[in-house]
Amino acid sequence: MLMLGKGRYSCGNIIIYTAVTILAILMLFPGAFANVRYLGYNLFKQGAKVYLNYQTKDFMEQSSKHFILKYSENDEDTASFVLDMAEDFYAKVVNQLQYKLSGKAKIPIVIYPDEAALNESFGWSVDKSAAGVYWAGNIRLLSPHALAVQGSSLDEVKRIFAEEGPLSHELAHLFVDEKTRGNYTRWFTEGIAQYVEKTTTGFTLQEPGLEEKKELYQFSRMDEEFDNLPNQTLAYWQSLQAVNYLIEEYGMDKMNQFLQVLGNNRGFSEAFQEVYSISVKQFDNDIKKMLQI
Ligand SMILES: [Zn+2]
Repeated sequence: MLMLGKGRYSCGNIIIYTAVTILAILMLFPGAFANVRYLGYNLFKQGAKVYLNYQTKDFMEQSSKHFILKYSENDEDTASFVLDMAEDFYAKVVNQLQYKLSGKAKIPIVIYPDEAALNESFGWSVDKSAAGVYWAGNIRLLSPHALAVQGSSLDEVKRIFAEEGPLSHELAHLFVDEKTRGNYTRWFTEGIAQYVEKTTTGFTLQEPGLEEKKELYQFSRMDEEFDNLPNQTLAYWQSLQAVNYLIEEYGMDKMNQFLQVLGNNRGFSEAFQEVYSISVKQFDNDIKKMLQI
């Protein structure tokens, strides 16, 4: 009994000593906190990839230089086209965001035949709908066939996917996530993703009406409850306008510098002030004045 007790306490001591040592190291090297968080996030993403791979074990598979594509029979005729588009967008996003992904792991893309299958992969309720989702290092897309009117020719299906599909948007989310090492706000990544989408495919979401624009959201509120905001069109539009304004006013180099500084684990407001020399609050006021005119 004593041995057991001793053993248990020894074990407890080892845990305490280890925890104290780790804490001391973290305090000696402030960047270490960020590294531990990043390490945890990376592990989480690796786990998500393994789980997605398991979930889609019965899917067909094709790969290219940077992607591994999984799809059902429904998309045997679009898979190669989607992969070609992915490589094309990849080169454009690398160029725009001035960032090369580290490591040699290929990016998983899964094409689901319909909305129900896509929603089910997340356990979402059926009333939520999306044509594409970036989550934890992987991209999930709705079949190009589901974007086009039923009975459309294959050429038409491909054209609609190329012009309106969310692939470049989701890929931009992945690059923002990687370049900032997971350190970004929600409106910001939605703004960048829409900006990249607009410049690669020409696609933009519908613009809100004049009445709607009178009640713009605070950026801090958009960070906290983006998905639950009652006017999603307004939230997405405002995010794009904000990023658009930053790029037109200060240039793409500054934007890439900002992403880089976020990747060094600086707080969003601190990084914003450092790169743009204005506070987020001031920017919030400026952009609202501009958008309400
Ligand atoms: Zn998005």
